Amino acid sequence: MNLAEKDKKLIWHPYTQMKTAEIHPVIVRGAGEMLWDENGKSYIDAVSSWWVNVHGHAHPHIAEKVSTQLRTLEHVIFAGFTHPLAIELAERLLQRLGGEQEKIFFSDNGSTAVEVALKMSFQYWLNKGIQKTKIIAFREAYHGDTFGAMSVSGRGAFTQSFNPFLFEVVFIDAPIKGKEESSFNQLKSAIENRPSEIAAFIFEPLVQGASGMLMYQANELDKLIAFCKQKDVLTIADEVMTGFGRTGKFFASNHCAQHPDIYCLSKGLTGGTMAMGITSCNRKLFDAFLSEDQSKTFFHGHSFTANPLGCAAALASMDLFDQASTWENVSRISARHAVFLKQIELLPQIKEVRQMGTILAIELQNNEQSSYFNTIRDTAYSFFLKRGIILRPLGNVIYILPPYCIKDENLDYIYLSISEFLQSVVSI
Ligand code: PMP
Repeated sequence: MNLAEKDKKLIWHPYTQMKTAEIHPVIVRGAGEMLWDENGKSYIDAVSSWWVNVHGHAHPHIAEKVSTQLRTLEHVIFAGFTHPLAIELAERLLQRLGGEQEKIFFSDNGSTAVEVALKMSFQYWLNKGIQKTKIIAFREAYHGDTFGAMSVSGRGAFTQSFNPFLFEVVFIDAPIKGKEESSFNQLKSAIENRPSEIAAFIFEPLVQGASGMLMYQANELDKLIAFCKQKDVLTIADEVMTGFGRTGKFFASNHCAQHPDIYCLSKGLTGGTMAMGITSCNRKLFDAFLSEDQSKTFFHGHSFTANPLGCAAALASMDLFDQASTWENVSRISARHAVFLKQIELLPQIKEVRQMGTILAIELQNNEQSSYFNTIRDTAYSFFLKRGIILRPLGNVIYILPPYCIKDENLDYIYLSISEFLQSVVSI
């Protein structure tokens, strides 16, 4: 039995219908934007391995720092103890987060970062003696796969088996083009109709990733956040995907004038090397948990909280973000995406092309519903994989979200392959 067959026999893969799944390529090595399988075939990782990788695979600086840390301290319980790397990471991240962010809470991944944010929000109010049980979220949001994170995500294919168990959320439209006014009005009436019930408003700032890279403008988000502030509703920016340079600035929230109360971070946090989540908050939030009364403590913690290896990877990644070359790459990719966008946006196969920084999304016309299960998805996935490019369309939305070190020639090859795919789509 070869490795791929063994995998098929033993392993249950995420987001995969195992009955019809093709044999998975066995990836044995990575460098920069490239991955290689056991047969030596190369792949351009145009989706940054589920949006996590920012500086390229097996980055020597990150590898060096993690391996040194591995020989020094691999892990220590984070209740009752701390360690130097967690402290340094908190300090450097808070500098980048700016605004009024003052505290860093560590967890394991994007979904746990969101769970923590939700639990902090509900308990913030309870600790002040007020029970608020509702969250406002965008109708097509995606915030993760645990129950709290699913609850605040749009109801659809990913949640349908679990809908009876999800807590009730007030969904509003995101302020995408054409819905700016209705989004604001829906938020306003949600808050005004239930003035004592709304604990917080959670959102993916500027780009709603899993729902198809839906984008909206910073000034529209500013209006929503400002209204929440005015009405004393907490605001949670889920920057799990948009953080760490994706949208052209360090955080998507940096495009906005308003500051959220809470940030959720993961994915690019460790440069995409290790699993780690962070929920940061401002003083107002933190202070509500300070008390002689033990019941006001935040009772949440994971075994691997603030894992030193994850912190080492995140600090090494921060070093790379301190280098001008990383930001030159972000600008270079953004500029090249913009040129390609112009070339294709008027093609009849295209419904809309959207771009924010290093994220380019191409929504195709189609006769089917724009759902995750759209058949263009499978056709496109195989088409690009055969050409050695990893692109995982979200339904009828093909998107590029590459590591920032991607070479121009590889970007050009991706653009060319997308153009070829678009030509083939005419006949689908
Ligand atoms: N929030 C957002 C905006 C995400 O895009 C994701 C993952 N794609 C998550 C949360 C969940 O992160 P994780 O997969 O690490 O649990």
